[in-house]
Amino acid sequence: MTHNNFAAAEALALQGDAADPLAAFRDEFLIPRNADGSDQVYLCGNSLGLQPRAVREALIQELDDWKNLAVEAHFKGRHPWMPYHEFVREDLAALVGALPHEVVAMNSLTVNLHLMMVSFYQPTADRSAILIERTAFPSDHHAVASQIRFHGFDPATALIQLESDANGVISDASILHAIEEHGDRIALVLLPGVQFLSGQAFDLAAITKAAHLKGCRVGFDLAHAVGNLDLHLHDVGCDFAVWCSYKYLNSGPGAVAGCFVHERHARSGLPRFAGWWGHDPATRFQMRPQFLPATGADGWQLSNPPILALAPVRVSLAIFRRAGMTELRRKSETLTAYFDALIREHASDVLDIATPHEAERRGCQLSLRVKGPREAGRSLHDHLHASGIIVDWREPDVIRAAPTPLYNRHIDCLRFVRAVKDWATHHAQT
Ligand SMILES: *Cc1c(COP(=O)(O)O)cnc(C)c1O
Repeated sequence: MTHNNFAAAEALALQGDAADPLAAFRDEFLIPRNADGSDQVYLCGNSLGLQPRAVREALIQELDDWKNLAVEAHFKGRHPWMPYHEFVREDLAALVGALPHEVVAMNSLTVNLHLMMVSFYQPTADRSAILIERTAFPSDHHAVASQIRFHGFDPATALIQLESDANGVISDASILHAIEEHGDRIALVLLPGVQFLSGQAFDLAAITKAAHLKGCRVGFDLAHAVGNLDLHLHDVGCDFAVWCSYKYLNSGPGAVAGCFVHERHARSGLPRFAGWWGHDPATRFQMRPQFLPATGADGWQLSNPPILALAPVRVSLAIFRRAGMTELRRKSETLTAYFDALIREHASDVLDIATPHEAERRGCQLSLRVKGPREAGRSLHDHLHASGIIVDWREPDVIRAAPTPLYNRHIDCLRFVRAVKDWATHHAQT
């Protein structure tokens, strides 16, 4: 990029940011700084979302309630701890397109995945398989393989893995084909909403429909989809979904995760691992040994929730409510399309975009491969970090960059591309 066309591109980026109706939300977040005091270009919300300013106050308030009220804070706290998880229910349901009793905030992602599989993976001799993608996140891989072994089956035969193309993208046709071909022996289809490595978004409704026609249960891991896509889980009709809250949901490291159980299972007698917090709240404190599950997703809770890890979720979901997921997604599509176009125009000699091009087949993240030898990718990644541009690196050769609609801007995308150009110029000389 010459000096002149960079100036023109910068003017355009700033114009885009000035016209952004959601621009003010950036001020609600703490943007990490460079040594010189300037804001970092943070494109890593896919890995750990930034801290909302209001989180500190919310945490201090819980500490104060603990200090001043101790056990009485369960009922007399400003946000009483007893029903605390219910304070996030409405916002969580709205965010993922669910009925309020279909969602619950609890545990962490992999724990919820196991709890859901206890109920929704019930293998039989004829139907023992789980369908996942070969590039599934390691934790998901470990979870499904261990569940298969736990039931006395062998992942070598009971784990069916979808293949992807060289970019890590899995065609819709190959998913439907696998369900058609193996459906009779698949007990559970477990796929992501957005694939963590490729950034590909899947057609959740089509997958659910095809899998249900074959008698399979369907669950989605929405770690990279929640707070990123405009989800409609109730209408999609999947049996369950799980997600974490520290990525696009900006709720802090190890934040309390989420879980969706479709209404059709709300009063079912599905086998489950039970704990007292999943007991019907009307009689929970009668402390009887018989377990009577609460209606809906609440019935899968085990323990009383970690208030300090749930307070940031409450704060963060209120931001999503005010911004609106439909509006955020609209901005996100524009921003990622702009990012994509910039990379193609100015950096196509350096980067390949592995993520699908169509808006409905991706979220905000672009997965980028550096052309040339593998060391080049690491070298570029290190250069970007040294320039205050935070993206992440996934072995063996992917840089993930995610302009998130709550706090990223057009100018962030442009600075990324500018730094890539700088690296390429320098790299070519050395
Ligand atoms: C981030 C992520 C995880 C992390 O699991 P935790 O239980 O939160 O540590 C698991 N699966 C996927 C697909 C992820 O993207």
